[in-house]
Amino acid sequence: MKRCEFFATCRFANGGLPCDAALGAVYRKHYCEGDYPQCARYLVYSQLGRETLIPELYPNQHDQARKILASASREEAGFR
Ligand code: SF4
Repeated sequence: MKRCEFFATCRFANGGLPCDAALGAVYRKHYCEGDYPQCARYLVYSQLGRETLIPELYPNQHDQARKILASASREEAGFR
């Protein structure tokens, strides 16, 4: 599988988020260089655009990603 299209600018992929080095390497191998469509950051990037992403979202935080997407959907519908 090819590398994630957001790799060059992704804060997590470029070491911009605090993370255990070994765990970060596992995530980068699993998500960034592999199954990136399942990455929580990718889900938000691909649906809302990179500028809407909260910076501390980690690739395995799927519940948080769903909350971000649900919140954006409610705001789009006019609910705050
Ligand atoms: S897979 Fe996720 S963490 Fe990796 S570069 Fe893409 S968006 Fe960033």
